[in-house]
Amino acid sequence: MAYDYDLFTIGAGSGGTRASRLAALSGARVAIAEEYRVGGTCVIRGCVPKKFLVYAADFAQSFKDAKGYGWSVGQPSLDWCTLRDNLAQEVDRLSGIYVRNISNAGAQIIHDRAELVDAHTVRLVKQNRMVTAQRILIATGGAPTRPLGLEGHEHLITSNEVFHLDALPKTVVVGGGGYIAVEFASIFAGLGVNTCLVYRGETVLRGFDDDVRVCVHEELKRQGVRVITSGRFSRIEKTEAGLRCHVTDHGCVDADTVMVAIGREPATAGLGLEKAGVAMRPNGAIIVDEFSRTNLPSIWAVGDVTDRANLTPVAIREGQAFAETEFYGRPTQFDHRDIPTAVFCRPPAASVGLTEAEARRSLGQIDVYKSQFRPMKNVLAGNEQRMLVKLVVSAADGRVVGVHGVGPEAPEMIQLAAIAVKAGLTKAQWDATCALHPTLAEEFVTLREKWHA
Ligand code: FAD
Ligand code: NDP
Repeated sequence: MAYDYDLFTIGAGSGGTRASRLAALSGARVAIAEEYRVGGTCVIRGCVPKKFLVYAADFAQSFKDAKGYGWSVGQPSLDWCTLRDNLAQEVDRLSGIYVRNISNAGAQIIHDRAELVDAHTVRLVKQNRMVTAQRILIATGGAPTRPLGLEGHEHLITSNEVFHLDALPKTVVVGGGGYIAVEFASIFAGLGVNTCLVYRGETVLRGFDDDVRVCVHEELKRQGVRVITSGRFSRIEKTEAGLRCHVTDHGCVDADTVMVAIGREPATAGLGLEKAGVAMRPNGAIIVDEFSRTNLPSIWAVGDVTDRANLTPVAIREGQAFAETEFYGRPTQFDHRDIPTAVFCRPPAASVGLTEAEARRSLGQIDVYKSQFRPMKNVLAGNEQRMLVKLVVSAADGRVVGVHGVGPEAPEMIQLAAIAVKAGLTKAQWDATCALHPTLAEEFVTLREKWHA
């Protein structure tokens, strides 16, 4: 049977774009449907605009630190609209680059929502038109979870809205304790907003190494964020002055803006997957194998919609592996072990490999090396913020199996440390590496004493 396309991709985000471009460059006939904006979450309302806000927030600390170095800075003030609009302009520019790159590769962009009809057919919703493809790739990403059962949930914003605020709030409450909640609590505080974080657990960033969690948690508080733990929203009420959050066991907190960041859901609702017979997990994530194949031989899925590791570089590599396998005859699996990750709070936290607790569980005997110290730059600045560096080592063979850091440029350090972890280098090989002085990163190759709790 002749199909309209060799590949039809649903979703022009990180994963869908990489897969479609590569497939088109092989000579395949490729179309990619996008219902919102080309570039997806990362470019439009995720990593990229978020990182710009982090840079903006960092200036506040730099202004303070500058005084200890002899600078008089005056009274800095922030014009939110300039920041927001400059950021939006850059997002437009990047989205345009995505459009050009896809088109230059020879793939066709269809600005429409696409839904699956059967194993080889997709319906374009606005155009009300069917198209067929030999292969279909689902790369629809995810969407913020909204607490629909919560009274007053309609007053909440999520990360989708936060980049478009008309004005910077004076007070904000952020609900959650994961990547987004911690990043935005830190951003808002840095921008001078009176910030409260409401988390249902005890220490933020569950899943990260415990030392990292404690360090980030304490740093949020040190920077003036009011952190309420063991609390959840029980009601959001609109008042004359703004919003009132009722928090279980903690009374009420008033704010101009309330943001929730309690996870993201795979974007599979209404996609026609049940009818077409594509298997999903109870949370709506598409089940795939190590080649991103679904249970139907003509349908693949990559990125957040599969809920494996919901990070941009992972979606890209899964999309790339799919294209290599299907269009270049090179069977390729993306290895999901040792994925480096960072939380861009201020200062940021970053990790690769196993946490201390995971290493103890899976390896038994381990050695831990860690140090906490004041970065040199902070000394003259009179800034009390400290840096954490930590190595987790397998006692059996000396391999460094986990590297964790909290402090200035920790994500940059962990990106490079990830090479060593992936390569399975031993602590002895880390030690044999000459330090580069004076840097913060040199601490990672000068940790000599085992940590005894
Ligand atoms: P997406 O990039 O979400 O793309 C999916 C696309 O599909 C979207 O454009 C959507 O509009 C489109 N779509 C959905 N359904 C349809 C349909 N039926 N028809 C047509 N189009 C459809 N990751 C990092 O690695 N580092 C970070 O610093 C980071 N920061 C983040 C900050 C925030 C606030 C958020 C929300 C996420 C962040 N992430 C970060 C995660 C990262 O953005 C995602 O993991 C990544 O974008 C996933 O790529 P994807 O291709 O799976 O999906
Ligand atoms: P996370 O999964 O990181 O965190 C969700 C948080 O919400 C957790 O603290 C969780 O608590 C809490 N939570 C979950 N359900 C509820 C509920 N019903 N009521 C109250 N609290 C709840 O999700 P995010 O939304 O922060 O981010 C989504 C994903 O996007 C991340 O997991 C990550 O993959 C990606 N991302 C990556 C970034 C990066 O790389 N820097 C930045 C932003 C997003 P508990 O801990 O108790 O489960």
